Amino acid sequence: IFNFSAGPATLPLAVLEEAQQEFLNYKGSGMSVIEMSHRSKEYEAINAGTESLIKELLGLDDDYRVLFLQGGASTQFAMIPMNFLGQDQKADYILTGSWAEKAQKEAAKLGQTHIAATTKEGNYVRIPQPEEIHRSENSAYIHITSNNTIFGTQWHSFPEFGNIPLIADMSSDILSKPFDASKFALIYAGAQKNLGPSGVTVVIIRQDMIEQGNKNIPTMLRYETHSKNNSLYNTPPSFSVYMVGLVAKWIKNQGGLAAIAKHNEEKAALIYDAIDNSGGFYTGHAEKDSRSLMNITFRLPNEELEKEFNSEATRRGLNGLKGHRSVGGMRASIYNAMPREGCQALADFMREFQNQKG
Ligand code: PLP
Repeated sequence: IFNFSAGPATLPLAVLEEAQQEFLNYKGSGMSVIEMSHRSKEYEAINAGTESLIKELLGLDDDYRVLFLQGGASTQFAMIPMNFLGQDQKADYILTGSWAEKAQKEAAKLGQTHIAATTKEGNYVRIPQPEEIHRSENSAYIHITSNNTIFGTQWHSFPEFGNIPLIADMSSDILSKPFDASKFALIYAGAQKNLGPSGVTVVIIRQDMIEQGNKNIPTMLRYETHSKNNSLYNTPPSFSVYMVGLVAKWIKNQGGLAAIAKHNEEKAALIYDAIDNSGGFYTGHAEKDSRSLMNITFRLPNEELEKEFNSEATRRGLNGLKGHRSVGGMRASIYNAMPREGCQALADFMREFQNQKG
């Protein structure tokens, strides 16, 4: 089947097969990675190799660390303000969807926040224009959500904020296209969409931010703890980290981020074309210049048809298309690992369904 679920999501078949091959006896160790001590040489190599592959894909140098943490992107919503939001400062949040709102609400429990821009009016159909963004005077950092999984919008270029640390939740578009990662002070992502299985949260953090972090918070919630210990302060989600390493290697073998981005653009165009050429039978939720290449949200003329569309699609092996309740309709999540054939099959089905019912 083709799995269009928003996450946990489909993984590259080649990666699953590689993990299957190595599952019982990892590289002659006589053990599965899932059984291996995180203090073993083999696991340390997996951990270090995964960090360096991610840095290589993003073109980052030793100014950055890649950490493998737990608690999901949702724990980062709290960890970021705990570490970086001082008492006399404000944290700026740009609200482009429900996850951005959740991040801001969590920070507001810990300190002062400022909503630098919001596109909530009209139900988050777009990303704000640069002139709509108003930072606070004494900003600790500015937080954005690079891809809005629920609404199907995405930042296609990132704003400039001078010296203020820019922090991004990239849970649903990390490693899906090239971008200047060195503009960011911190990037975080739950792995379960573009990177691997759930259970590990990837944090890419600039060294100076690690040093700036608040020291009077619980040990496990300090970035410095994890950086100093190479993400091995406590038992890591070792099998998930191993899988993230295999996915990163797969991306590199595909030709890196530029090649992946071209593939992703072509895939998304197949489905957006089916929407745009439907004469209004399908309507996209997002405004065209804010459209996501990862999550495509669209509606049909009525809920009855949406139900029918979903059950017929499922019957044909096109799974997980039901949209989130705050948008309704359909959502096709087409992360890196979704093959082109999946997008083609969905686009074909959309035309066929329209011909029958439209
Ligand atoms: N941020 C974004 C953009 C998401 O899409 C999600 C989950 O779908 C989250 C955060 C929450 O991630 P987690 O479940 O890893 O806490």
